[in-house]
Amino acid sequence: AGLADLVESMLRTVPDFPEPGVQFRDIMPLLADGDAFARVVTALAGHPHGPVDLVAGMEARGFLLAAPVAVALGAGVVPVRKAGKLPGLVASQSYALEYGSASVEIQPSTVPAGARVLVIDDVLATGGTAAATVELLESCGATVVGLSFLVELGALDGRALLPGRDVDVLLTLP
Ligand code: IMP
Repeated sequence: AGLADLVESMLRTVPDFPEPGVQFRDIMPLLADGDAFARVVTALAGHPHGPVDLVAGMEARGFLLAAPVAVALGAGVVPVRKAGKLPGLVASQSYALEYGSASVEIQPSTVPAGARVLVIDDVLATGGTAAATVELLESCGATVVGLSFLVELGALDGRALLPGRDVDVLLTLP
């Protein structure tokens, strides 16, 4: 079976998490299966964007994917964290949530000017996190060469916040 089928078959959908009305797509069963995890990492590392210096993963499930993809590509890894978690000098980018706002942070000292960065996360939902991450990395002088996700929630049209970007997903759900 193809990779999309594999991902779909190993996802778990949890109703009303983390709040009523949300259908949470849980990737943990896939990560817990050694063969499936390896196939997914290989696919994410097979992105068509040319050389990559850094792989940026979003807190927290993005970390679990970004690190093995970085090793596979011979690249470094950069954690994109929620506000207040990283020590030292940080660069910060806020973005709107349905109610209120949030921000993402990196340590700019780990992102050299001109670095070619691949951005990785588990799920592309509204696109707010991904768009803020792109802006944050590029404000530090990096070039985001593409973004890869395990799953895209098509109805939320997160790609609309990533115009002109190379967005790869292993599975699109309606
Ligand atoms: P967005 O900013 O609305 O695109 O939300 C994306 C962020 O929320 C990512 O970091 C995801 O890990 C997380 N997220 C949103 N929906 C889900 C889901 O159904 N399953 C797992 N993570 C999700």
